[in-house]
Amino acid sequence: MNYLPINIDLKNQPVLVFGAGEVAVRKIKLLLKAGAKITCIGLKISGDIIELGKHQSIQIKVSDLSQSKHPYLNGAYISQFRLVVSATDNHALSERIYQVCQQNHVLINTVDDKARCNYITPAIIDRDPLIISVSSGGAAPVLVKRIKTMLETDLPHRLGQLAQKADSLRASVKKVFTQFSQRKRFWESFFSSSHASDILQGRSSEDNDTIIKQFQSNKTPQGEVALVGAGPGDPELLTVKALQCLQKADVVLYDRLVSPEIIELIRKDATLIPVGKSAGHHSVPQEQINQWLVDHAKQGKQVVRLKGGDPFVFGRGGEELQTLKQHQIKFQIVPGITAAVGCSAYAGIPLTHRDFAQNVLFVTGHCKDSIDTYDWPSLAREQQTIAVYMGLMKSAHLSEQLIKHGKSPETPVALIENGTSVQQRVFTTILSDLSQTIDQHKVSSPTLIVIGEVAALANELAWFDPNSVNHSQPLELLTKTA
Ligand code: SAH
Repeated sequence: MNYLPINIDLKNQPVLVFGAGEVAVRKIKLLLKAGAKITCIGLKISGDIIELGKHQSIQIKVSDLSQSKHPYLNGAYISQFRLVVSATDNHALSERIYQVCQQNHVLINTVDDKARCNYITPAIIDRDPLIISVSSGGAAPVLVKRIKTMLETDLPHRLGQLAQKADSLRASVKKVFTQFSQRKRFWESFFSSSHASDILQGRSSEDNDTIIKQFQSNKTPQGEVALVGAGPGDPELLTVKALQCLQKADVVLYDRLVSPEIIELIRKDATLIPVGKSAGHHSVPQEQINQWLVDHAKQGKQVVRLKGGDPFVFGRGGEELQTLKQHQIKFQIVPGITAAVGCSAYAGIPLTHRDFAQNVLFVTGHCKDSIDTYDWPSLAREQQTIAVYMGLMKSAHLSEQLIKHGKSPETPVALIENGTSVQQRVFTTILSDLSQTIDQHKVSSPTLIVIGEVAALANELAWFDPNSVNHSQPLELLTKTA
């Protein structure tokens, strides 16, 4: 190990910064966050430092350090400081500063000059009071940056609040649970409990006494259900929140439309229950799905109900939540990118366009009642885009009715099969040829049908090449943190 990571308490501690330019500003801002008392010496003081100095504890000294026996460049002066940061752009000066610090055993960091550092600062993921630092000892800064981005994305935003809550519980927990093993059990269940989840979701949490009493009485706190939209297929279109839910789930009930790459991202020891809902396929009855959701949550599990696209767009998400509400089970909803939005983007079709369409209709070809209940005259109106979900089986009827109600038979139509995935296929045609195109190319489900002038733009704006997709790298990074 080349460097030992330590956390230093710099509250009200004197820190000396040489240099007063842009780099120095960055360092000073960080040091101020840690509560340090800063002395900044430079010849040209940047406006930012002067501004910072108006409100915070910075002493600014304007001085030309290049003279050989400068009073600030001697051991007696420098030894008053806990740390030194050297951020000048003058090599000879940096070397002199470094030498004085070394001779006087003062810790110095010369920015971007590893050879003149006896300490280095890591990359920081700040969920105060929880601080995660990442360092490669200067060997691979770009790798460090990637890891930092990964952790930033992956770690819930309110982790700091959770750490604060734990801190506020510490004294009482120690008093109530006298043995170490009891305390360990408490903390392990606390961090996976619904109390922790309340805090991470930004909901108000129970008071400390109630939490401790609940653990003492050994009552399993009820679990909760997250209704999560998985997006249209490409796993990188998952939201950060969806990924977090998948990685902490105990049980996941998922639809047939959810792509295998997304299933791969689920926590490895979670129970997976395929419920296979999709139009025209055998599926688990809705009542059974509702019952499973309720049962698992009552057992204290973190349950994810994972649906393709967005759970509230032709997904019966509303019906499932009504059951949970009746049973007083906590739930949250994580929206996903719905097929109309995702597939049209990956086919190069803008759903609205100032020249062609001022509104968009999301329509299903598979509804409780017959599609003849549709308001055909308003569907057939010009200057709008219709995105048809589950429309393959009714395509002939759809084009016939639209044409009958005044839509031009020449209206452009796009068929997007398996949109956003590596199997994506896009066909453009016209309304009168819709069914024939489906038959000719054996277009199958899931397919989104886009009807309207904008559909023709797929020929001009297509950009997504399924053959060149390499999902392995980002997915590898994501799953490693699971
Ligand atoms: N809740 C989902 C829709 C469920 S209905 C959402 O918001 O996207 C299922 C229909 O959605 C499919 O029959 C198809 O019309 C459409 N669909 C979903 N994913 C798709 C995909 N990757 N490519 C094309 N169409 C898709």
